[in-house]
Amino acid sequence: MKKVQNRNNEKPIQKYRLWVQAGFVLLCIWIGVEFHLFVESLQDGNPSTVGYRPPGVEGFLPISALMSLYYFFLTGEIHQAHPAGFVILTGIISVSFVFGKAFCSWMCPIGFLSELIGDFGDKVANKLFKKRIKMPKILDYPLRSLKYLLLAFFVYSIFFAMTAASLKYFLDSPYNLVADVKMYLFFADISRFALIVIAVLFGLSIVFRNFWCRYLCPYGALLGIFSLLSPNKIKRDPVSCIDCGLCNKACPSFIKVDRVQTVWSDECSTCMSCVDACPVKDTLQLRPLFGKSKINKKYVALGVVGVYLIIVTLGILTGNWQTNITKEQYIIHQKKIESLGHPRSTTDIENLNRQSEKGNTNAPSERR
Ligand code: SF4
Ligand code: SF4
Repeated sequence: MKKVQNRNNEKPIQKYRLWVQAGFVLLCIWIGVEFHLFVESLQDGNPSTVGYRPPGVEGFLPISALMSLYYFFLTGEIHQAHPAGFVILTGIISVSFVFGKAFCSWMCPIGFLSELIGDFGDKVANKLFKKRIKMPKILDYPLRSLKYLLLAFFVYSIFFAMTAASLKYFLDSPYNLVADVKMYLFFADISRFALIVIAVLFGLSIVFRNFWCRYLCPYGALLGIFSLLSPNKIKRDPVSCIDCGLCNKACPSFIKVDRVQTVWSDECSTCMSCVDACPVKDTLQLRPLFGKSKINKKYVALGVVGVYLIIVTLGILTGNWQTNITKEQYIIHQKKIESLGHPRSTTDIENLNRQSEKGNTNAPSERR
């Protein structure tokens, strides 16, 4: 293949993206270790020896956060069981509004892992077949709709099936109060079935880049929808473009960047790989939808992290970060954690609505 001369002297941003990703992974590891110590300390049953609970753990409770967000829209109140979850979700959605689905390629630890696995898979495929492996189109489109179906289920279950009263009823329930501990126990004492599922997803992600993110992640689906509303898009100047196709090769989402002037895709994660790969100065840039000014790559890095940190700081400063669940409550609910279940169907949710209307104060899904 003819070698393309690089006439673009702008420094690539991928190194900074890697640092940001690594920073968020380290943050998640720290949260995991702290939370592990917290759960261990609950075993003694003594409130004075219960350890520190990192609020950031609520970033791993997306369904509870989505319920909290809807509850906020209906009542104007931020539910105080997992306020950090609400703030983190709001921060991530805000990033998507400004910079598209940048959370996936800059901050998400699963996205980072998926990228590393995908890079490995691409290297192997390039050696063996001289090209990356791509899901056949006939399967790609229906599979991509799976994550939207999962999202539609959650959106229907929360936004259409629940009232403000039933949301509060669920958010106040013992199940939701210790949902973080439940999630921890799921991974700490992982079942064989769950391990097999993870191993299969891992294997599929080697063969088909970003398998989980592209086909199954409902969080990515939600952010993909918000990203379409973002005023900043990857734009190509067809006049200076030399049709080298390097942008296509660099795109982890298989977007045909060289065929469009503006990338309108729910799969674009604003990773800037295509911009870095483009050999012609100012031909491919992140630009506002209206107007010609380009957004400097460094400002993308600062902006993605900055928007998120502004929202988190606002959450902390307004007192919506630390949970109001007491150590005593954690100890009590943790003892019967095995018996706490979550609603599994819309019938369960209708029951929740009925029970909340009756003012029933029992745990909604406590298995007897
Ligand atoms: S179009 Fe560019 S910014 Fe969007 S995912 Fe592909 S490489 Fe990344
Ligand atoms: S926009 Fe894509 S095809 Fe055009 S010059 Fe840049 S990398 Fe090459």
